[in-house]
Amino acid sequence: MGTMIQMTVYPKGDMATGQTLLDGAFSVVTDLEENLLSRRIASSEVAKINEASDRAHGQQISCVISRELSDIMERCIQMTKDSEGAFDVSLGRLVTLWRIDELAAEVAEDAGAEGKLPGISELSEAMKQCGMESVTLEEGQILLENGVMLDLGSVGKGIALDQIRAYLEQSENQEKLKGGIFSLGGSILTYGEKPDGTPWKVGITDPQDSAKTIGYLTLTGSFCVSTSGDYERYFEVGGLRYHHILDPKTGYPVQNGIHGVTVLSKSGFLSDALSTACFVLGKEKGMALAEKYGAEVLFVGDGNEIFMSDGMKAYFTQISSKP
Ligand code: AMP
Ligand code: MG
Repeated sequence: MGTMIQMTVYPKGDMATGQTLLDGAFSVVTDLEENLLSRRIASSEVAKINEASDRAHGQQISCVISRELSDIMERCIQMTKDSEGAFDVSLGRLVTLWRIDELAAEVAEDAGAEGKLPGISELSEAMKQCGMESVTLEEGQILLENGVMLDLGSVGKGIALDQIRAYLEQSENQEKLKGGIFSLGGSILTYGEKPDGTPWKVGITDPQDSAKTIGYLTLTGSFCVSTSGDYERYFEVGGLRYHHILDPKTGYPVQNGIHGVTVLSKSGFLSDALSTACFVLGKEKGMALAEKYGAEVLFVGDGNEIFMSDGMKAYFTQISSKP
């Protein structure tokens, strides 16, 4: 998943059970990545679909897809509609063109980025090969037109959290687990309870200094928390942060004064999809979208100004930046 994974479980009894549950949760993530969602691992369903689309040179293709991927795509298509196109899993070509991860590493090394940014004509070519209007689901098949490629990087971690929770709930060792916390990059699942009975605390990163937190959420029981931020993968040119969340309308990294969005939901898919969608939409529209899905949202804007839904106020504690 191109990110750090950290999992902690609190078994009621022996540590061996804890280890079994950790191994199981980790397998859930690797299976999902290798079999279903990864763009980079050739064996995954998404990678195979993308390869077929690439080979077709713009002709329409149809691929048989699993029930699981079909369900995920259905939810993504709905999210695209509800977000007026801000959320878009058909941006594979643009994501590949921007290659933010590699650029961030290269720029850190040799400090020259201008010449490495994609050109206008490359960008407009890639944008022609993006767009959910070129993606159709039809009875167990997916149809792709215009050489579109899928990129489910905006929801993979959230889906993994949903699957980890389902795995834990169904495990024969379920009774032996007090609780746990599972962190996949910017997406976190809290499950059950901590041994000392105190609530879970999930920190929210300071976009201006990602080693710090600007506050935290206090959570009791099972929740998913996803954060999308412009500080996760980026490089800077002329004072502008080029990061990994793209505006489907412009083809460029979103520049709207928002630097971090945290979404709280019972569903990992929703928290992850909504954090990306709300980042693109900005405060007003993002807030309305989260409300539609019954999720709570917190935005960090310029100067670390914080805006949040009313419901989020019950969970959030700000850490004062003043000495
Ligand atoms: P996240 O960190 O969950 O916000 O997801 C960001 C990732 O989703 C990026 O690294 C891209 O792979 C992909 N992505 C970028 N822009 C968008 C967008 N507008 N809609 C959906 N996915 C996107
Ligand atoms: Mg996301």
